[in-house]
Amino acid sequence: MLELKQISKDYQAGDAVVHALKNVSIRFRRHEFVAVLGPSGCGKTTLLNIIGGLDQYTSGDLIISGRSTRDFSARDWDTYRNHSIGFVFQSYNLIPHQTVLQNVELALMYIPSRHERRRRALALIDRVGMTPFRHHRGSKLSGGQKQRTVIARALAKDSPIILADEPTGNLDSESAKEVIALLKEVSADKLVIVVTHNFDQVADCATREIRVFDGQIERDERIRETTPV
Ligand code: ADP
Ligand code: MG
Repeated sequence: MLELKQISKDYQAGDAVVHALKNVSIRFRRHEFVAVLGPSGCGKTTLLNIIGGLDQYTSGDLIISGRSTRDFSARDWDTYRNHSIGFVFQSYNLIPHQTVLQNVELALMYIPSRHERRRRALALIDRVGMTPFRHHRGSKLSGGQKQRTVIARALAKDSPIILADEPTGNLDSESAKEVIALLKEVSADKLVIVVTHNFDQVADCATREIRVFDGQIERDERIRETTPV
């Protein structure tokens, strides 16, 4: 459903050029739970940003459902981001003075009926185990509760791909486990790609392990069968 073909990404940093990704080729399928690992600065976030259409590749091609993106317009990229990708990034913060319910409803604004929005939001909140906290404001939530709300929001548009950049970075180990278990559940009918520092956290559930080193794929292995619903 998604393929990177010899993708390279260069950043200009003052006079120097940083080669953040070098000839990266990966093919992803639905139902995969992919763990992306590697040391800080190796290119993990760049990889996710390119997959999510938040950043443009310098050369190569990103193939989406069989279609090359080389001639994508800004509008094509917008459509792709809006319909195909759910982001679970730490920088995608919740609105602190709004409640869990309001934050999730905001992601459902494409649904014209207020009543239907409310119904869908409550179902998503239930799915991530946040029903008891639905009227709590964003600023009052623990790290794990925030991340679960972010996941509910990412699920709101029912996109086929979920991208998570270090979703457990600021969490205690118990909350981290819950967030990973939730993402695993989500991967039953989506492609989930999770960047993490900590392989132990995902070792029990990842179906594939990709190690990035210095902008290149150092290792790419299926480690478990996918289990579609
Ligand atoms: P990781 O997420 O694995 O820590 P990144 O993808 O953030 O790594 O960064 C990969 C490399 O690209 C690093 O050397 C980083 O400094 C550089 N880089 C990332 N974003 C930019 C940018 N916007 N401008 C210049 N260099 C960048
Ligand atoms: Mg990063």
